[in-house]
Amino acid sequence: MEKWTLSDRVVEKSIADNWDEARLEWDLINVLMLENEYESCECGHYTIKEVCTIYNNNTKEQLDIGNCCIKKFEREEMDVTDLIRCMKNIYGDESKSLNKEALKYCFEHKIINRAQYKYYIEIWRKRKLTESQLERKIEINQIILKKAFKNGI
Ligand SMILES: [Zn+2]
Repeated sequence: MEKWTLSDRVVEKSIADNWDEARLEWDLINVLMLENEYESCECGHYTIKEVCTIYNNNTKEQLDIGNCCIKKFEREEMDVTDLIRCMKNIYGDESKSLNKEALKYCFEHKIINRAQYKYYIEIWRKRKLTESQLERKIEINQIILKKAFKNGI
């Protein structure tokens, strides 16, 4: 039931007239984390806390969907499960680390600059950080979190 509501909405805003082709027209353009509020997904699910914005370049349409439904596109490059897990991880404890993929994502989306990216990679594997290394990592985590909760990443 849920899947069909979603696919109807997606097909409606695509050029293709069927889900199998329509799902390929879309790109993920933003992931916004919500702190104290909820949004609703196109499938009718009302309590999404991670809003994935997808865009169709053919129709110039845009849809906000939840993490619940982004998986239904079955497109690896749109799968943000790991990214969101990482974000929740550092949100819960800012001294924790993002994994390499999440870090790369933040760099490629210009949330952090090259120097910050390189620094993070450099200290990433270290078992014990000096106080200033930890401080700098937390600073970078905070930059990422701020963006993720404010404008999205
Ligand atoms: Zn959904």
